[in-house]
Amino acid sequence: MYESRMVDRATVPDQSERERILAEAGYNVFNVPADAVAVDLLTDSGTGTMSTEQWAALLRGDEAYAGSRSFGELEDAVSDVMGFDRIVPAHQGRGAEHVLYGAIVEDGDVVPNNTHFDTTRAHVTEAGGTPIDCPVPGAMDPDASGEFLGNLDVEAARDVAAEHGPERIPAIVVTVTNNAAAGQPVSIENVRAARQLADDLDARLVIDACRFAENAYFVSERDPECQDASIEEITRELLGYADAFVMSGKKDGLANVGGFVAVADGENDLFAKLKQRAILYEGFPTYGGMAGRDMAAMAVGLREAVERSYLEHRIGQVRELGQLLEAAGVPIYRPIGGHAVYVDAAAALPSVPAEKFPGQTLVCAAYREGAIRTVELGSFAFPDTDRPELVRLAVPRRTYHQEHFERVADAFGSVLDRADQLGGLEVVTEPERASLRHFSARLEPVDAAFGRAD
Ligand SMILES: *Cc1c(COP(=O)(O)O)cnc(C)c1O
Repeated sequence: MYESRMVDRATVPDQSERERILAEAGYNVFNVPADAVAVDLLTDSGTGTMSTEQWAALLRGDEAYAGSRSFGELEDAVSDVMGFDRIVPAHQGRGAEHVLYGAIVEDGDVVPNNTHFDTTRAHVTEAGGTPIDCPVPGAMDPDASGEFLGNLDVEAARDVAAEHGPERIPAIVVTVTNNAAAGQPVSIENVRAARQLADDLDARLVIDACRFAENAYFVSERDPECQDASIEEITRELLGYADAFVMSGKKDGLANVGGFVAVADGENDLFAKLKQRAILYEGFPTYGGMAGRDMAAMAVGLREAVERSYLEHRIGQVRELGQLLEAAGVPIYRPIGGHAVYVDAAAALPSVPAEKFPGQTLVCAAYREGAIRTVELGSFAFPDTDRPELVRLAVPRRTYHQEHFERVADAFGSVLDRADQLGGLEVVTEPERASLRHFSARLEPVDAAFGRAD
């Protein structure tokens, strides 16, 4: 449980104002000002509330360019909590991805991952590689059941290697939890099998550890071998199989900004290379684009993220939101994942055909209905892949309360009550890099009134 020490009043524009804002935003909620949003479930990335301990650490931040004390605190926290002694800081997760994937991926390489997060996909591509998703069967099925649906399909990844040649595989990547597959967890056994595959291919095992603490919580709930283990023990066991991992401090670092790459002890050359790339793209290797105070706050956040009481509250909130939505008749992805509830937009809006973006239509309709901001992660965000039409409701950490979740469930329920009136959306302009188009494309409704002919 938490007590509020600081509050921020939310003012909500009325419905006609929201309609105007939506049209001005090109039916892309990334263009909507945050002040016009009542409950912001766009992302759980850097949007959480820091603790008093983190604020205290922030005020003590050391802003020395080289060798700052705050960097030392971050190193110590990563070592204690995650078991890696060598880190290269970066301004956020994608900065860390740029530093790492640019160093290990070459032209013509192929990178299997349980599912590439969008920035990971873009960085592998940018480095000349081809990202290939290898989720387990059922990972993308909203009605599947399973304890570890986030797992890498190790045999599928092995087939990718056989097809392209093991020399073209610089790394096997495992993303924990599997963000793009509805935040489903990855088992320790699966990471062990991925390690074995990487050894067989003479490739590295890289873990995208952004949500390592949530993943460890699911492991402690679901893996009978881990029932007596602490969250830290599970974390260190799972990450211990990796040669390197990438971290966004904006997720389970419980910070508002920051990230890093961690490198295993044996990887001297890689560590040296990453530090050089960090200097070029992020900053000197003892700050990497972060202020000292941000490193200090993240150091505390990493320790808080593995407290069981925090994780019970965190995962409990996400489950609560899922249950409220279900009670309002909204079809959600089951089982509920770690950081977000995913709505099956194809089932929610059956009248909107796939090429008219049911997910993005639902996102816009929910904003209009209740000033709720969510994000589409289906055919609009991922035009070249065969994804289900999911809308993600990501829950910022330690920020919202039950009344917020009730408002969200009410708004989605009301949209679904009038679902047959919505015709969908069309893209008007989009950027060249299709893999990131949901950040900046503009759309317009097929029907001028956007389903409000009434
Ligand atoms: C958020 C995220 C990233 C990128 O981190 P940013 O801090 O947003 O740049 C990479 N991978 C996964 C799985 C993430 O969730």
